[in-house]
Amino acid sequence: MTVKIDWENLGFSYMKLPYRYLAYYKNGKWEQGVLTEDATLHVSESSPALHYGQQAFEGLKAYRTKKGTIQLFRPDENAKRLQRTADRLLMPQVPTELFMDACKEVVKANQDYVPPYGTGATLYLRPLLIGIGDIIGVKPAEEYIFTVFAMPVGNYFKGGLQPTNFLIQDEFDRAAPNGTGAAKVGGNYAASLLPGKTAKSKGFSDVIYLDPATHTKIEEVGSANFFGITANGQFMTPKSPSILPSITKYSLLYLAEHRLGLTPVEGDVFVADLDQFVEAGACGTAAVISPIGGVQHGEAFHVFYSETEVGPVTKRLYDELTGIQFGDIEAPEGWIVPVELD
Ligand SMILES: *Cc1c(COP(=O)(O)O)cnc(C)c1O
Repeated sequence: MTVKIDWENLGFSYMKLPYRYLAYYKNGKWEQGVLTEDATLHVSESSPALHYGQQAFEGLKAYRTKKGTIQLFRPDENAKRLQRTADRLLMPQVPTELFMDACKEVVKANQDYVPPYGTGATLYLRPLLIGIGDIIGVKPAEEYIFTVFAMPVGNYFKGGLQPTNFLIQDEFDRAAPNGTGAAKVGGNYAASLLPGKTAKSKGFSDVIYLDPATHTKIEEVGSANFFGITANGQFMTPKSPSILPSITKYSLLYLAEHRLGLTPVEGDVFVADLDQFVEAGACGTAAVISPIGGVQHGEAFHVFYSETEVGPVTKRLYDELTGIQFGDIEAPEGWIVPVELD
């Protein structure tokens, strides 16, 4: 390894790596993509992505194994989700094979930046699909850019496996009932900046959003899904059309059942019933599993397991998931995609 990086102390920050993948969609089809050293996008000032939010993104990671090989975790699921998001925003789908090849090429070209095994750090990949071109009316773009860039990252929430506290704010929603909550689009994040700032200024890690229609049920954190563990061994997570379907969450639902013997439940999670949980966490590619210490809602502060220690079930789920991602534990069929380094 030739690059000098303090792998143990990486946060979640942009780093300009040597290569990224770039492909154009023009005249109704995807052109051949290339790896480029140019980290700046050159687009029309009238691009629909800039004005009307016609854009989508993804997030996935490359993991260095003990043997030194590099692997991706369920990238085909990210490809499929980007296709669903593209459908919702009238953008052309990026074919799964194009998506997977782009991710692999970017990892391979920047392989010196895939953190060493044992540091806990990973290479975060950011696929991005944007509508470009000379259009000022509100309609879908005719040209698109699909790009994938990458950077080494450590923890997303400051604590890692240290629990942190979250805030429920009734005055803000991140998505509408039949809006774009289930699509991975920047607009949802723009809407979350102000509530996120309020929460952080009060010392919370982030916001837990409630269902926008009734404000009685937990939906998700602005960048991660919610789960709770009940005393009788259920792994419970909210089901709602305005939640972003987290690949990590669906992986945990599977692992909870098949590896830990828990009962997986997707359903309503009422704020009034938070007492049923003996542990809770936020999960996502960036967050991995971040234990939720406590939740503030109005005057009420609810502690799940402990404000300072991760609960035993959350820890087992974390070990199982990361063990699979880093290649130490056998993965369910199809979850791991190796990156050939030749
Ligand atoms: C990306 C994202 C998640 C996490 O999804 P993963 O597939 O697990 O990374 C959760 N919530 C929102 C709003 C997201 O954008």
